Amino acid sequence: MEKRKILVTRPQLPPLNEFIPMLEDIWDSRWLTNNGKYHEEFEKALAIFLGVPYVSLFANGTLALMAALQCLRVKGEVITTPYSFVATTHSLWWNGIKPVFVDIDPVYGNLNPDLIEAAITPETTAILPVHVYGNPCKVEAIQNLADIYGLKVIYDAAHAFGVKLKNSSVLNYGDLSILSFHATKVFNTIEGGAIISHDLKTKKRIDFLKNFGIADETTVVAPGINAKMNELQAAYGMLQLKYFDTAIDGRKHITDKYKEGLEGIAGIRFLNEATNVDYNYSYFPIFVDELEFGRSRDDVFEELKKYDIYGRRYFYPLISEFSAYRGLPSAKGLDVAYELSRQIICLPLYPDLADEVVETIVSIILEMSLDETKKIPVKMLHQIKRNK
Ligand SMILES: *Cc1c(COP(=O)(O)O)cnc(C)c1O
Repeated sequence: MEKRKILVTRPQLPPLNEFIPMLEDIWDSRWLTNNGKYHEEFEKALAIFLGVPYVSLFANGTLALMAALQCLRVKGEVITTPYSFVATTHSLWWNGIKPVFVDIDPVYGNLNPDLIEAAITPETTAILPVHVYGNPCKVEAIQNLADIYGLKVIYDAAHAFGVKLKNSSVLNYGDLSILSFHATKVFNTIEGGAIISHDLKTKKRIDFLKNFGIADETTVVAPGINAKMNELQAAYGMLQLKYFDTAIDGRKHITDKYKEGLEGIAGIRFLNEATNVDYNYSYFPIFVDELEFGRSRDDVFEELKKYDIYGRRYFYPLISEFSAYRGLPSAKGLDVAYELSRQIICLPLYPDLADEVVETIVSIILEMSLDETKKIPVKMLHQIKRNK
């Protein structure tokens, strides 16, 4: 095994020799941004690939979230989850919207629809759930509530690129969904993002908003922002699409290997796959129950580091624990989210992660376990102990 740090993820890049001719083309054309050829091509190709009506490309996922809220004129209070990346809540703050945190379900860590109704007030205008780790939210229950109370639904689908529910893209639920193509995500354009919309009128409004609100040479229809994706990233994205399915196969292989190794260890839980979902295997989260496992999540996290293996406590701390939000009335309670955030580690997962690394990680965890029946010979552990 190479003596290299194993991080939680490692971005996939397209073959450089395929990118260079595209760069030459862009150099020749001198068209760098503002709806260039690759931008148009990539938007259309993505819509087909994902199985969604309309895609609007963005410079990143956070700007896409902020623009989605602007597009639907969301105001007042928005119900959201504390168990996510901070950008979910920051997008509300940047729009002057009050976040109202609601607790999550204890299995998948998604916003719990059974708790939404109690948090609705006359100020509530929308729900902003997250498909955490790419596991679809309870989309029907959420839509029912939204319909009854007249609320918009915007999904933070930053983890859900390519995920299907009952053979249809999970991005087809809600009023809008946003994607992130950040380097650490399952599909990357270095930085990047998108809004998925369901009708052309909405797409047009989104496209104005991401370009300063400019509708034509002399018309500005809204106080928009600059959130456009450039031609280099769009060309890179076209290539990434070609290799996405192979990357998912690689991720599935690693996921299966982890599951096989960790199955049945007392106090280690991972997420089971639902039969009606096509996953993207974007993360491999495990939840460490300290009482049952005998060691804490942080013990596991630190032990892995001794072997130069870096998991990520994602999501920990909760968004509601950060200084910007901890004073909110809804930041209290949230017991399920609190518990999961203390148990979570995402283990390294990327398409070309070596099988031996997965085996090593499994052995380290097994070795820490109280569960003597599961232990296997650990000679491999000593072979790779790097500090010796
Ligand atoms: C990555 C991420 C974002 C932000 O996306 P960027 O492209 O990095 O701005 C938002 N929400 C979630 C859940 C994310 O994981």
